[in-house]
Amino acid sequence: MRIIEGKTNIISGFLTYLQDESKLSFGDVEYLAFPENENDVCEFLKFCRDKNIPVTISNGKTGVVGGAVPVAGALMSLEKFNKIFGVNKNGDEYRVRLESGVSLDEFYKFLENENFSGSTPLKYFYPVDVTESTAKIGGTVSTNASGERSFKYGPTRNWVRSLRVVLSDGNVLSIERGKIFADGYDLEIKLSDGSIKKIKIPNYKMPSVKNAAGYYAKKNMDLIDLFVGSEGTLGVVTEVELALAKKPENIIVLLAFFPQEQNAMNFFFECKTILKSAVVFEYFDKGAFELLRPKMADLPSAQNSAIFFEIEYTDDNLENTMSAIGKLLKKNNSSMDNTWGGFEKKDIEKIRQIRHSIPETINETLARTKQKYPAIHKISADIAVPAENFLEMVSYYKSKLEPLKLQYTLFGHIGEHHLHMNILPRNNKEFFKAKELHLDFAKKAVLLGGTVSAEHGIGKIKHQYLEIMYGKKGLKEMAEVKKVLDPKGILNRGNIFNEEYLNA
Ligand SMILES: Cc1cc2nc3c(=O)[nH]c(=O)nc-3n(C[C@H](O)[C@H](O)[C@H](O)COP(=O)(O)OP(=O)(O)OC[C@H]3O[C@@H](n4cnc5c(N)ncnc54)[C@H](O)[C@@H]3O)c2cc1C
Repeated sequence: MRIIEGKTNIISGFLTYLQDESKLSFGDVEYLAFPENENDVCEFLKFCRDKNIPVTISNGKTGVVGGAVPVAGALMSLEKFNKIFGVNKNGDEYRVRLESGVSLDEFYKFLENENFSGSTPLKYFYPVDVTESTAKIGGTVSTNASGERSFKYGPTRNWVRSLRVVLSDGNVLSIERGKIFADGYDLEIKLSDGSIKKIKIPNYKMPSVKNAAGYYAKKNMDLIDLFVGSEGTLGVVTEVELALAKKPENIIVLLAFFPQEQNAMNFFFECKTILKSAVVFEYFDKGAFELLRPKMADLPSAQNSAIFFEIEYTDDNLENTMSAIGKLLKKNNSSMDNTWGGFEKKDIEKIRQIRHSIPETINETLARTKQKYPAIHKISADIAVPAENFLEMVSYYKSKLEPLKLQYTLFGHIGEHHLHMNILPRNNKEFFKAKELHLDFAKKAVLLGGTVSAEHGIGKIKHQYLEIMYGKKGLKEMAEVKKVLDPKGILNRGNIFNEEYLNA
């Protein structure tokens, strides 16, 4: 295993390892390790544990909450964990076992070339379509990542069948879904050395929405779910077994434009009720249009919002489906003429590209502002609320943002009542106001039964929002779980909760 030692050596040659997409400042790291196998991970963790060195786990570095950014001590990159062991069949389900440093892109490519025991053309796929597909499997498991298709297929958690995890003392757990359950809120893990770890599952109630905030905690829960979404605070995931989904026969992708945001929202709610074969529903508001227009001259000029949706169809039901969509478009001030559609891969890619351009354009805009105001960054809420409270949350955003004339956009996963609320401050005054608003929005979301992070996790920058959601009591309960599995608190320090909870 290669280990780079010394802060100066690391800073001079390996700076990119100390960052992720949060662009958070990194701490003083003395060791940068590149383990090549599970044994290396065990040895390095034992070394760190004995010397009380905090270890941060770094994988694809696409996280946006600073989870992979080290605070101090050591950084362990899993980039050498890039093997795909192949497809296996369990009952009717196809599964793939792979190391945690394989990227989603590599995984998708592998599946495209797989013939599934002779059943061509391709019939199975991995449905978690995280927008940033350079993310690595271990990162997506540790953040319980999701994507556009989570509307139909759910987040990563739904597809994880087994994990291999190295604990901070070097013990290795091999966990299969469906094998070890909590007895109420008591969970026992038997280690290979014969010792037993007794865990008290936190008893806060998780919101009934898409959620990536804090530890998964439920009465009688499966052990595997404790590790999925735990942001590397409980162990290092080395290997993952993921289930595949049956590929739909045909998909059509549509981008319907509307003159008013309310039209787009109404269309979504009505469409969701009648279109049982929808896989994706995404929303773009007028702020997104304002950002995209300078880049995309062909965006319809009289329209200021859109719904992007994907539908599965068969040759038998296509005509009826399109006719039903046409009627709903008309009812909501749009039409098939105001809708871009595609059956072919290149059309589908073009439409999807629009969706992907939004975060890129936000980042470019902010980079320009930062030249004048270096302290500024994007204020981004990752809130989801229950369906019945979604419109109230949207009006709340607007009631606070509009009077202040802030530049903002609401876009994303409307199918799961989860919009990314991004404020783009243009000066320091707007930046501080936007930060205050984010806190206010988090409180409102919790009051409405929602989550402060539906997708990106808590990392090092959203602690205060998690406290709003679960209170100090909930955070203490999470910290108690960590103390059992990582008694010296060396793993991914600073993620999910502050050190004060570990020292209490
Ligand atoms: C443009 C853009 C679009 C994005 N779109 C989405 C989206 O659609 N959906 C979504 O959910 N997220 C999205 N993200 C966020 C990010 O891609 C996900 O959080 C992703 O899961 C991170 O994977 P990674 O390999 O890059 O992890 P990293 O950033 O390297 O790490 C993320 C966290 O997981 C921990 N970790 C990583 N590997 C392991 C391991 N093997 N064992 C234990 N802990 C580990 C790290 O320590 C860190 O806390 C987006 C990010 C960007 C920049």
